[in-house]
Amino acid sequence: MPEYIGPNAMPKKIIPIIDYRHSKTAPVIPAVIEEPNGLIGDAFGRPLQDLRISLTDRCNFRCVYCMPIESFGKDHVFMPRASMMTFEEITRIAQIFVNHGVQKIRLTGGEPLLRKHVENLIEMLAKLKTYDGSDLDLTLTTNGALLGKKAQSLKDAGLNRVTVSLDSLDDATFKRMNGVDFPVSDVLRSLDVAHSVGLGPIKVNMVVKSGMNDQEIVPMARYFKDSPFILRFIEYMDVGTSNHWEMGEVIPSAEVVRRISAHMPLEEIEPNYTGETAERWRYQDGGGEIGVISSITKTFCHECVRARLSTEGKLYTCLFAESGHDLRALMQSGKTDQEISTALAHLWRLRADRYSELRSANTKSKTQTGKKIEMSYIGG
Ligand code: SAM
Ligand code: SF4
Ligand code: SF4
Repeated sequence: MPEYIGPNAMPKKIIPIIDYRHSKTAPVIPAVIEEPNGLIGDAFGRPLQDLRISLTDRCNFRCVYCMPIESFGKDHVFMPRASMMTFEEITRIAQIFVNHGVQKIRLTGGEPLLRKHVENLIEMLAKLKTYDGSDLDLTLTTNGALLGKKAQSLKDAGLNRVTVSLDSLDDATFKRMNGVDFPVSDVLRSLDVAHSVGLGPIKVNMVVKSGMNDQEIVPMARYFKDSPFILRFIEYMDVGTSNHWEMGEVIPSAEVVRRISAHMPLEEIEPNYTGETAERWRYQDGGGEIGVISSITKTFCHECVRARLSTEGKLYTCLFAESGHDLRALMQSGKTDQEISTALAHLWRLRADRYSELRSANTKSKTQTGKKIEMSYIGG
């Protein structure tokens, strides 16, 4: 296996000449077909290790920071079902990614549990092996609404663990944020069921939006302290355009840690692995740990080993990409696995995305001018 030169190989001050987000969507099949060897590096030496697959652009929530009701109302036109990749196509393409070094697959959306018979897909994906023959880390992010009902069948199908989004313990705040009056108690019940069937360790994601739920930081930390769940605070991100993001609505992770520490002292601990997006902090009294994901104030593009596959089968090499590369079109036009694999390797080698770093370098405020894709389309 070739030696990976490491994320530090990424030049810090060079701005890419080509902004790859604007390149053409049709993937090219290079003339020379190559065999995958479990490791490809992008333009900055970042390997391809993590794949997020969006199973649907639909959702039963209308979170203010993701699918605000004003933009995703009754008239909103979602993707026709025929445009969605089939389970066979997803599994085939996932195998191709795995051959290039992917070790972790996360199913997301929209709300992935809305996809009919999702357990069948999980069964198919759970059979895939990493390049060196180990089991994949197969996980799913959900809003928890349907998790209580489905946890056992997801576990039986081979899902390893889940991440559950929950932005508040206060019903009024949570209902205002999820946009559909969904109660906190149902998510908490789902968390318990998921834990009892063994879908752990379970992470709980809280997006913090200033003036909306930041008063819930300490109560959430207190509730999940000494519990089997790992609470992670996510900085509100400028993903998509429909949420009308403003820098002033971001609470920096440092402030989150400061507020919690004032009541329950924290100390920073080592990451579990290189490239972990969450910084880890543990309670000094041994009450477990929390994570903070500082997508805005402490960017981690230099360690980003993540690819995203949209519901219709387009590869996005960055959360902030404006266009994707239509891998499903390659499958539908009868290309072989070797051809698609070679096209993927070519795309990854060209990858020079580092949107968040450039945003930070430019200004600490809104920078995007073009049309960004929505989080609900590409998956978080
Ligand atoms: N529907 C599922 C859920 O909410 O868990 C999966 C899809 S959702 C797009 C994935 C994650 O993205 C969630 O944890 C959500 O809170 C997060 N997210 C969505 N919009 C965000 C934003 N503007 N900033 C930060 N995180 C966001
Ligand atoms: Fe739906 Fe998840 Fe987006 Fe909320 S964050 S609207 S639950 S996709
Ligand atoms: Fe990765 Fe793009 Fe996010 Fe940077 S901005 S961490 S490259 S997804």
